[in-house]
Amino acid sequence: MPVTAVVGANWGDEGKGKITDYLAREASFVVRYQGGNNAGHTIINEFGKFALHLLPSGVFYPNVVNVLGPGVAVNIPALLSEFDTLQSRGVPRPDVRVSERAQVLLPHHILFDALEEERLGKESFGSTKSGIAPFYADKCLKIGLQVNELFDTAIVKARLAKAFVSRNVLLEKLYGKPPLVLEETVAQLIQLRDRLAPFVTDTTQLLQDAVEAGKTVLVEGQLGTLRDPDHGIYPYPTSSSPLAGFAAVGAGVPPWSISRVVAVTKAYSSCVGAGPFVTELHGDEGEGLRRRGGDAGEYGATTGRPRRVGWFDCVATSYGCRVQGATEAAITNLDVLGYRDAIPVCTAYRIAGETTTKFPVSRLLDGAEAVYEVFPGWKTDIGAIRSFDELPDKAREYVLFIEEKVRTPIRWISVGPRREQIIRR
Ligand code: GDP
Repeated sequence: MPVTAVVGANWGDEGKGKITDYLAREASFVVRYQGGNNAGHTIINEFGKFALHLLPSGVFYPNVVNVLGPGVAVNIPALLSEFDTLQSRGVPRPDVRVSERAQVLLPHHILFDALEEERLGKESFGSTKSGIAPFYADKCLKIGLQVNELFDTAIVKARLAKAFVSRNVLLEKLYGKPPLVLEETVAQLIQLRDRLAPFVTDTTQLLQDAVEAGKTVLVEGQLGTLRDPDHGIYPYPTSSSPLAGFAAVGAGVPPWSISRVVAVTKAYSSCVGAGPFVTELHGDEGEGLRRRGGDAGEYGATTGRPRRVGWFDCVATSYGCRVQGATEAAITNLDVLGYRDAIPVCTAYRIAGETTTKFPVSRLLDGAEAVYEVFPGWKTDIGAIRSFDELPDKAREYVLFIEEKVRTPIRWISVGPRREQIIRR
């Protein structure tokens, strides 16, 4: 079987965790290929409700090997704590492997993320303060630390000493804080490495062998297209590419092997963090949707922050699917809209007097206004429906309209947060 990518078509939080959990049933490997513990995938299954931050969504299946690829930011305490929590809640010990080439998210990355957001004040990016931007910045500056290097104390000391030179100038001069102490961080890392050791391996070879042997591999993106540093809403992206195309790099699988790309989108829009969001709802209408969205309202799985919500955006999602190279799509949270008499869908943007269906650069998004088509609501609970034909006509029309606009076949329709609440078309 080829590699399947499960990725977000929008701003993140599309329900990828649920779709990956559902598809992981038949997988041998589930792989995270970018980001760190800065976002959460909510999964509700026979073990209970979980918010996974760093662990791949295959951890609930004993047949799945769960891989953190070279592109991931490995926060070791967060990883170990998630691993322990799962078992304390009755999940069988999952098989988790961490790439020896992945880099370690270091304590000063978290510190700098928080200090910079504080310094920026009203201009802040809405970072989750998990250290992701400083982590990837250090990686590019070649002052990061690969997981394998943790096991050579001399390298750890030398690399950190090099990194701390410039970091300490910033700490003292820009942020007015005390400098980092090398020995403290080294001691912390040495303690952690022993616990991480059993998970560490050459995951690139593992996955290359798996692909060659025809095993089923799922690669799981974090966030979505619009948070991509190149194709998203710069300067409000995340710091690594959430695109399926990047999975080849961040997971270490051949590009040709990723033949199936499942773009996940919600039946409305939601967005955590700052940046332009054309269909955003404010006031009571927004609060009404936020309260009913997801499994317990639209609040961030990692941060608990209220998510910004809005109507479905065909312009952004069509672009999102296309840039992902989606071969099929999954739409989640259709049940949430069951309370509405009428459901607006954004079909175009009006920018400087012109109507367009092209998703523009961020500079033009701020002034964009949504053009809506309004659909009648179905006003029923669809949570128990398991076949497309049994959905109310109006719900089917809504899905088919979106399918046409986003130009991607909608293969799965999720009608509730639980694993079994899904319709396959
Ligand atoms: P991810 O990061 O893309 O996995 O998305 P999140 O887990 O952050 O957010 C998706 C939210 O929607 C979570 O609260 C899920 O439990 C919830 N969810 C997923 N699918 C459905 C669905 O079909 N209906 C409802 N009501 N909630 C869903």
